[in-house]
Amino acid sequence: MARIGFIGLGNMGGPMATNLVKAGHDVRVFDLSQEALQRLKAVGASPAATAQEAVQGAEYVISMLPADKHVQALYLGEHGIADDIPKGALVIDSSTISADTARSMAAELVEKGLRFIDAPVSGGVGGAKAGTLTFICGGEGADIEEARPILENMGKNVFKAGAHGAGQVAKICNNMLLAVLMAGTSEALQLGRANGLDPAVLSNIMLQSSGRNWTLEVYNPCPGVMEGVPSSNDYQGGFLVDLMIKDLGLAQGNAVDSNAATPMGNLAAELFRQHSEQGNGSLDFSSIFRFFETLQNK
Ligand code: NAD
Repeated sequence: MARIGFIGLGNMGGPMATNLVKAGHDVRVFDLSQEALQRLKAVGASPAATAQEAVQGAEYVISMLPADKHVQALYLGEHGIADDIPKGALVIDSSTISADTARSMAAELVEKGLRFIDAPVSGGVGGAKAGTLTFICGGEGADIEEARPILENMGKNVFKAGAHGAGQVAKICNNMLLAVLMAGTSEALQLGRANGLDPAVLSNIMLQSSGRNWTLEVYNPCPGVMEGVPSSNDYQGGFLVDLMIKDLGLAQGNAVDSNAATPMGNLAAELFRQHSEQGNGSLDFSSIFRFFETLQNK
């Protein structure tokens, strides 16, 4: 059993922390949302009044926050918790943030006597609930190995992508591809529908053909084709359009810095941005399917 401080109990962090409680760890949690804190209290976690309190005596600190600014402020901001975390503790940031921020955070936290790995995840809210996430880690090999049993309480795959920041690079490569696949799958399903095909039948055909991909397997964007996914729940929950736009922005920034060409990622980013500008930023990203409907009607 480990003593874990867990900060950020949203769509992903909530079920991840729940799985750590179920695995028998002593989990002290904090979120700005009282509702999120109460949900974790109900499953046996210890709610803390502040982030500082959540990390008192912690051997491991895990954060699952929206973006760079939240992670930087949590650890190194005006009331940052870096000085409250016991020396030698391992900080595991599972948020999706820029590789540059992960590297600079690692340097500053190591300077303060802590250890750090970037460990962003793939697998969505379903994977977080089922404990089947993939962790994509950057950092010292020994730290990643030490974290492995804890990460395996929340996921089924733990990869070392490379040094600090490499986990974030691999994660944004994956999410850029996911955005392209979700947009492409939506476009194909809309084309089939415009020709009178049943989206469920077409999905099944593509699943057994060369267009097969993760969105068709477990996250179909067309309402009614698949049960238990956001498209069949009015695109509520899941992975928000605005978080996907954030990830595509990270990929675009990285592409500029590393002089890599990402024309498909850039186009996907543009489509998701237009979709968000129509007031859909808080819907699940598979709602890009609906965006293609609005284009058809023009
Ligand atoms: P979310 O918005 O549902 O949850 C974020 C939580 O952080 C909220 O509960 C919020 O109250 C809390 N928070 C914000 N600032 C805080 C602070 N200073 N102190 C304490 N709590 C604070 O987001 P999410 O969907 O859980 O995503 C979290 C991260 O995981 C993001 O970086 C996202 O890109 C990444 N991610 C999400 C998914 C997904 O399917 N949702 C999948 C993979 C990765």
